[in-house]
Amino acid sequence: MTIQENIRNIIAELPPHVRLVAVSKFHANEAIEAAYKEGQRIFGESKVQELNAKYTVLPKDIEWHFIGHLQTNKVKYIVPFIAMIHAVDSFKLLKEINRHAAKINRVIPCLLEIHIAKEESKFGFTFESCREMLRQGEWKELNNICISGIMGMATNTDDETEIKTEFRHLKLFFDELKNNYFPQTESFREISMGMSHDYRLAIEEGSTLIRVGSKIFGERTY
Ligand SMILES: *Cc1c(COP(=O)(O)O)cnc(C)c1O
Repeated sequence: MTIQENIRNIIAELPPHVRLVAVSKFHANEAIEAAYKEGQRIFGESKVQELNAKYTVLPKDIEWHFIGHLQTNKVKYIVPFIAMIHAVDSFKLLKEINRHAAKINRVIPCLLEIHIAKEESKFGFTFESCREMLRQGEWKELNNICISGIMGMATNTDDETEIKTEFRHLKLFFDELKNNYFPQTESFREISMGMSHDYRLAIEEGSTLIRVGSKIFGERTY
């Protein structure tokens, strides 16, 4: 199957409220162009340097999403053009994004990364530390970021019940935050969950943004 066929097949499965982030990390520009030709406009990258190199040469109507762990000292390199930052895992990072965005008068949509997996290694707020950050309220003064929802990664397992349970917890947490902090905020609406092996489960549990890489572009070569 070609990249174009893969994209077409995935898009055909998506309910209207779910958008596809084509995760192009470690893949060449030609692969991105193939997906672009099929109409795909949202691409996800997880390394700042690689993203910048691609941004410079690829079509300017691509909507770039940063999906990886972002270090505060690298924020300034992506703020001028990034469409969404998926994995904000500390208040410090949120403030740093806001600070750089303010300098150039941008408002950057950000998702709060929530740790739902069993693995220790994954980043993200715990449910409780996220509640605490929002309760504290300082985020309301950050006018150059827009908290647009939450993001999570399920445990890397074949146990579908486990994966579904984790996604369900993420959706319930989204509903809690929506009710408590964003009831009137139209832009707080995204639940970024689901990758190549579990995006169907994620959609069943309420995902609005799926992040799919290898199922479109093939296995990453490095
Ligand atoms: C690499 C990556 C993906 C895509 O993973 P695939 O299994 O290739 O679909 C999704 N989300 C994040 C955060 C990633 O780093």
